[in-house]
Amino acid sequence: MIPKTLATLHWTEQLKQAVRDPLTLCQQLNINPTQLPGGIAGLEKGQQLFKTLVPQAFIQLMQPGNPLDPLLQQVLPLGAEGQAQAGFVSDPLQEKSYNPLPGLIHKYTSRVLLTTSGACAVNCRYCFRRHFPYAENSLSTHASQAIIDYLKQHPKINEVILSGGDPLATPDTRLATRVKQLETLPQLKRLRIHTRLPVVIPARINSEFLSWITATRLKVILVVHINHPQEIGAELVESLQRLKQAGVLLLNQSVILAGINDQASILAELSEKLFEQGILPYYLHTLDPVAGAAHFAIDDKRARQIYAELLAELPGFLVPKLVREYPNQPAKTPLGW
Ligand SMILES: *Cc1c(COP(=O)(O)O)cnc(C)c1O
Ligand code: SF4
Repeated sequence: MIPKTLATLHWTEQLKQAVRDPLTLCQQLNINPTQLPGGIAGLEKGQQLFKTLVPQAFIQLMQPGNPLDPLLQQVLPLGAEGQAQAGFVSDPLQEKSYNPLPGLIHKYTSRVLLTTSGACAVNCRYCFRRHFPYAENSLSTHASQAIIDYLKQHPKINEVILSGGDPLATPDTRLATRVKQLETLPQLKRLRIHTRLPVVIPARINSEFLSWITATRLKVILVVHINHPQEIGAELVESLQRLKQAGVLLLNQSVILAGINDQASILAELSEKLFEQGILPYYLHTLDPVAGAAHFAIDDKRARQIYAELLAELPGFLVPKLVREYPNQPAKTPLGW
């Protein structure tokens, strides 16, 4: 159970108190770091490449004493991240070439990503943004008029996706101001938020957030990022209920990760658990080939096999679309099977 004191602590405080050091994380979970692959030197190597960041509410969901815990593996740095692997690069999606303005990525016809915040509340080791130049790309106040002008010049855009980093790492006052500017454009119908923050700090879904989310005329879609059923704890369940009551459409996206969720039984359990909370599975992504994440990759043959098993097990609406992102395609590409 999550201690009451943590559940009632404002999310910004929880973020301040997040663990930023891999040895502390191991200690808290009763794991002897010398028994990890690569040992303490491995942790330090990984830490140099991409800093550890994990909030307490997420640590509470991990099993103490288990170095293979599926949540721990997503956040614990490893020396293997330093091993170069052919095909694993720093900008696998070549997003820089779809970045016409700071803070805006326009790759697909009808929707744009606004990189609202460079920050995240958790650093996921497999993340394709681990090398993205966030600092140049956060949405500052002076740039917002340029973005509005860009949207006006592209009338086919009817949906804005707040992305990041994690958009919910931005204070609600700023988000509310942005959304007020955006909703003045009649061409916009939907506001989508891609976030992992409520998963690692469920208290993020507080009254400040709900107040602007219910005030906007735009249809709000929240795409959470949950990879494993163990990520759905009691506190998250409460936050999801609040979102449902606010009329938000809830979807989930996952990434297939070796040793974490690369089994049909785990993914099926995830889909069932999501559905119980009113969330529909949306995408199951293959890993983006980002440098430092090769140890999370599974081959396409295995991905297809898992997917076929998932299709055989679940009703169609509980099967996410298995997709891969290619740099120069007009949409995410279904992985044929
Ligand atoms: C995934 C993504 C979107 C959204 O795509 P949907 O298929 O609508 O979910 C938009 N822009 C970029 C750059 C993306 O990577
Ligand atoms: S962008 Fe998402 S996957 Fe990447 S580190 Fe942030 S929360 Fe994790």
